[in-house]
Amino acid sequence: MGLFDQKFDVAVIGGGPAGLLAAGTAAQSGAGVVLIEKNDRLGKKLLITGKGRCNLTNAVKDGRDFIKELGKNGPFLFSSLTAFGPHDVIDFFNRRGVKTKVERGGRVFPVSDNAADVLKALIGYINEGKVKLVKNAEILDLIKENNLLKKIKLPDGEISANNFIFATGGLAYPQTGSTGDGFGFAQKLGHAVIKPEPALAPVMAKEKWVKELEGLSLKNIRINLWQNNKKMAERFGEALFTAEGLSGPIILDLSQEIGRLLKIGPVELKINFKPALDYPTLDKRIQKDLAANKNKAFKNSLDELLPQKLIPVMIKLSGIEKNKKAGQLTRAERAKLAKLLTELKLNVAGLAGFDKAIVTAGGIDLKEIDPKTMRSKIIPNLYFAGEIIDLNGPTGGFNLQICFSTGFVAGRSAAGKNIGAK
Ligand SMILES: Cc1cc2nc3c(=O)[nH]c(=O)nc-3n(C[C@H](O)[C@H](O)[C@H](O)COP(=O)(O)OP(=O)(O)OC[C@H]3O[C@@H](n4cnc5c(N)ncnc54)[C@H](O)[C@@H]3O)c2cc1C
Repeated sequence: MGLFDQKFDVAVIGGGPAGLLAAGTAAQSGAGVVLIEKNDRLGKKLLITGKGRCNLTNAVKDGRDFIKELGKNGPFLFSSLTAFGPHDVIDFFNRRGVKTKVERGGRVFPVSDNAADVLKALIGYINEGKVKLVKNAEILDLIKENNLLKKIKLPDGEISANNFIFATGGLAYPQTGSTGDGFGFAQKLGHAVIKPEPALAPVMAKEKWVKELEGLSLKNIRINLWQNNKKMAERFGEALFTAEGLSGPIILDLSQEIGRLLKIGPVELKINFKPALDYPTLDKRIQKDLAANKNKAFKNSLDELLPQKLIPVMIKLSGIEKNKKAGQLTRAERAKLAKLLTELKLNVAGLAGFDKAIVTAGGIDLKEIDPKTMRSKIIPNLYFAGEIIDLNGPTGGFNLQICFSTGFVAGRSAAGKNIGAK
């Protein structure tokens, strides 16, 4: 039978991690499943997760702690996290040949450090269930009858199903296919969408000298967030200079708070490159380095203290004559240098947009979804999974776990309850 002549039990729209897990699970539960993806291949975004290594879940947190990380909407995930939590995800991939390891902060990665292995396992899962795959298929319209979704219109014909799962993702990194189509489809069916906004986004700085530091990655630094001379938050860890400002784990995790504060007024970041040293210890350390290079020019005396790329910028910002002999720096000049090393100030110009954000905040209003089944409370044969819903978390594997948990529950429920069946 041709694709357009049969009626599937479940049609899943979107071949990202949520859609793949939902389609595979529905098929394992006995349903005849079709998966529709508009790209020419599946999981385009999944392949770039975790810088190509794919941080697939977070293993440190138990259910309650995990949910706390997701902010005020976190409790919505409770049922699906119980049904398919981090340990189920690890077990799922281990059983499909993807060995996993746990890194700092409970971040789980494949031992191979290759996101392609994660995608391969998910594709294996839908193949096991004989999921019918339709690629290069952009949905043109939805056909609803008697408050049930009946068909989806593709350029070449219509696909009929008893139940439908929307897993089209959000708006982050639209070049991967996540162009927010599902928001429009859901709105058309009567769902409310909480305004999508970029989350986990890099920061743009007003200072133009950041461009000179592009690509510089720093470990074990502290970044403090300031507004109106008050410290609002701080993070310790890894950050990365970009052409326009800063990115990397601690910046992405601060970005939601930065976005909130920017609505109130100007925001500053203060970087401490030497958070392990108090002022007297740092001053001693600087004195030692200057003394060891006392006959060299100041500009050539900081090699031990700072990464090469940072030195010219620090020298410029210090205002100290770069050819002055290192041994001749005054106490005040040393203090200036120490201040730069512990409180380098960046004025935040704004957050980067969807093109550089890691996830979308906002999405389908959770009030209109049953958390136990992921079923729409408006259209009884429609289910949601993944980033399309109004739930997101920090970096660390939380966002993919949301996709897997909701994908599992949506797939299982859509297969079990063929509400749209005649
Ligand atoms: C650079 C980057 C790194 C990341 N790293 C991590 C990480 O290490 N760990 C982590 O937990 N999270 C990470 N994330 C977040 C994570 O990738 C997403 O939360 C996740 O991919 C969302 O999955 P999804 O299935 O809901 O949607 P998506 O992955 O966005 O997939 C949706 C799919 O639906 C398809 N689609 C859209 N509209 C239509 C349509 N009209 N018809 C048919 N198909 C359609 C799209 O083409 C796409 O393939 C990262 C994100 C980015 C951008």
